Amino acid sequence: MPPVACLFLGQTHLMKLKTIVEAIESFAPLALQESYDNSGLICGDWDMEISSALIALDLTDAVLDEALAAGCNLIITHHPLVFHALKKFPENDPTTRLLLRAIRHHLAIYAAHTSLDNSVGGVSYFMATKLALTRIQVLSPVRNQLMKLITFVPHQHAAAVRQALFDAGAGHIGDYDQCSFNVEGYGTFRGAAGTNPYVGQPGIQHREEETRIEVILPAFISSRVLKALKESHPYEEVAYDLVPLANDWQYAGAGIIGELPRPMTAGEFLTLLKQTFRCAVIRHSTPLPKPILNVALCGGAGSFLLDKAIAAGADAFVTADVGYHRFFEAQNRTLLCDIGHYESEQFTAELLLSGLKDKLPTFAARISAQSTNPVNYFS
Ligand SMILES: [Zn+2]
Repeated sequence: MPPVACLFLGQTHLMKLKTIVEAIESFAPLALQESYDNSGLICGDWDMEISSALIALDLTDAVLDEALAAGCNLIITHHPLVFHALKKFPENDPTTRLLLRAIRHHLAIYAAHTSLDNSVGGVSYFMATKLALTRIQVLSPVRNQLMKLITFVPHQHAAAVRQALFDAGAGHIGDYDQCSFNVEGYGTFRGAAGTNPYVGQPGIQHREEETRIEVILPAFISSRVLKALKESHPYEEVAYDLVPLANDWQYAGAGIIGELPRPMTAGEFLTLLKQTFRCAVIRHSTPLPKPILNVALCGGAGSFLLDKAIAAGADAFVTADVGYHRFFEAQNRTLLCDIGHYESEQFTAELLLSGLKDKLPTFAARISAQSTNPVNYFS
C-alpha cells in the first residue's frame, strides 16, 4: 500500500492548542460523537504553543517518530489512541507505552473519531466524493440535535439581530445559510419602577411594532447564539423561546447514499472500488442481476447500517469489518462490499487537513507519510 502523499500547509506559526482544538471542533463537534467514543483531546496542555501538527488515521510508533523528526508537537488522528478507560499504566501495554512516549516528548494528541464521522461533510461523505457520487444524502441522520430560536425584535433592529444570529452560526440548512422566518406584529410591555426600557416609560404599558424572527440551529452552538442575541438586541430583557426539535438533522449522521455518474455492472463497480480505495482485496456478497447506480457508504465498521442502506434503495453498500453472517443478510438485496477498514478511511487525514486549512489557514499541518494499516494481505 503506497503511503498517502505528504501535504504541507502554511508556515510554522505558533498557535495555542486551545485555538486548534476549537477549530477542529467547529467542523467535527464533540456533541456529535457516539456515546461509546473517546473523541477529543487525549493529552496536552490547552495553553501549550503548537508549532505544527501531523495528521494520521492512527497513532503508531512510526507516526510518533515522524512527528518528532518533523518537529510537530501535535498529532491529530481519526482513531483515538485511548479508546477504553485506563486504570493502570504499565509500559508493556502498547497504548500506555505510546501515550507515555507522547507525554515525555511534550506532544499533544487529539482524536476526531465519530465526531468527524457524524459531522456535516464527514468521513463517509468524503468517501462519496472520491467516487464522484451525486444526490448525496445521510443514511442515518442524527436526532435531538436541532433547536429553534424564536425572538421578538423592534422593526428597526430586526436586520441587525438577524445578522448577529447568522454570524453566530444559526440559520444553516444544507447548502443554504442565512435562513430565517419573519413575521411582523406588535408586542406590549410595562416596566416596573426602576427599569430602564429601550422605549416607553416605567409604569405605562407600551406597544412596540416588532418582528418575530425564527431560526434553526444545532443545540451545541445554542450558548454562542444566545450570547449573540443578547448582545445585539436593544431590549433590557430579551424575550425568546429556545425549543428542542424532534426533526432529524438530515445533513449530519452516519453513512451516506448517493448516485454514481452512470449505472455500472458489478464488475465495473468493484474495479472502480479497487482502484479508488487502493484495495488489495474486496470481500463481497453475490452480485445482483441488475446495474449498480445507488451506492451507500460508511467508513470503518458500518455493518450496522446494512438495513438502512437496503431500505434507502442502495444497489451496493460499501463498508468494512463485515462479519460472515452479514453477507447472508445482504443476499438478493444489495451488493455488500467490505473494502477494509484502513482502505475505507485512508482519506480521512486529507479531510482533517482541509478542515484545518479552512479554519486556520496560517497553521502548519501535514499528513503523515506512514501507512498505519495493521492488516497485511497474503495472496
Ligand atoms: Zn475507523
